[in-house]
Amino acid sequence: MKKDKILIIGARGQIGTELTVALNRQYGPENIIAADIHPPIAGQANYITLDVLDHAALENIVRELGVTQIYLLAAMLSARGEQDIDAAWHLNIQSLLSVLKIAKNLALDKVFWPSSIAVFGPGSPKYNCPQQTRIEPNTVYGISKRAGEYWCNYYFEKHGVDVRSIRFPGLISYTAPPGGGTTDYAVDIFHQALEKGHYTCFLEEDNCLPMMYMPDAVRAVLELMNAPRESITIRTSYNLAGMSFAPCDLAAAIRAYVPGFNVSYAPDYRNTIANSWPVSIKDDQARKDWSWKPEYDLKTMTIDMLEQLCIQKGLVLDETFPLKTAYPDFPVDNYEFTKIV
Ligand code: NAD
Repeated sequence: MKKDKILIIGARGQIGTELTVALNRQYGPENIIAADIHPPIAGQANYITLDVLDHAALENIVRELGVTQIYLLAAMLSARGEQDIDAAWHLNIQSLLSVLKIAKNLALDKVFWPSSIAVFGPGSPKYNCPQQTRIEPNTVYGISKRAGEYWCNYYFEKHGVDVRSIRFPGLISYTAPPGGGTTDYAVDIFHQALEKGHYTCFLEEDNCLPMMYMPDAVRAVLELMNAPRESITIRTSYNLAGMSFAPCDLAAAIRAYVPGFNVSYAPDYRNTIANSWPVSIKDDQARKDWSWKPEYDLKTMTIDMLEQLCIQKGLVLDETFPLKTAYPDFPVDNYEFTKIV
């Protein structure tokens, strides 16, 4: 039987950092190759420094190491993409075309490539946005993701490449910083809450967006990639939902555990990008085809983020301090946060 050999491109990014750990667990570290344009973290094994835009180098790696699956995570995200539209288009499209071509020519087993809710535009339904609807993105990132979805479908239909994809909402995590997206505020706000007790948000307080906690996102990738080929009915990209909240909702959820935390609002160009996206996503096809179900909601995500970041920052959960919650609908359980200064 052929052995699985997994190449993760963009492994040092927000998703790649956690997906690499999960794939190591599933396949064994000896079968995982992490690659990124940035050099490895000291001591990181099975790591290659690679520019995904170097097609020949990528093809050599795939051939020489006997790669059977590629997870392509290298991309320029929505906010950074608007600052350099040519570079964003080039990276996002060329990397995908290169990987799809290699997957076809070397008969790879599977490819994973993430799309985004950024494919939706101002004309798409705001609430419960369905899989098939009016899709007219108005950012270069969204356009590149929509074009990429069509390329995935093309390579599946014309060449049988088993490429699978998810339209991720904004992702929240504590291991690696986010890479320049419109929803990055939802990570930064946690750090600032614990370090300064204050945050200035670049979105308007009521700008509600679809979001997901990273453990759900990583599990979704594994479940999609482990599903039988015949159960995958969407070959562009699956809608996927976790939770939806606005900055003021997240601020309230954090304030329930970090009393006195306050947020001011200074919306910039990212608020305009966010305005063009749906508030919530309908993901019935993913639920039907590969039994998708999110586990984290706003409250459970907030508790886990605060707990993990407290550990990371050397803050303690102090049992002697009763938590002063201003929001009784966020019961405190045993989570109490006190900053050591
Ligand atoms: P990120 O910016 O955190 O990570 C991308 C990684 O790719 C970085 O480590 C970067 O060094 C690497 N990279 C960039 N250019 C490269 C090149 N030329 N060659 C090799 N590596 C290169 O991004 P992320 O948040 O981990 O996102 C991964 C994928 O998921 C992207 O396709 C993104 O569009 C998609 N996505 C992310 C989110 C989110 O909220 N994070 C939401 C929707 C979709």
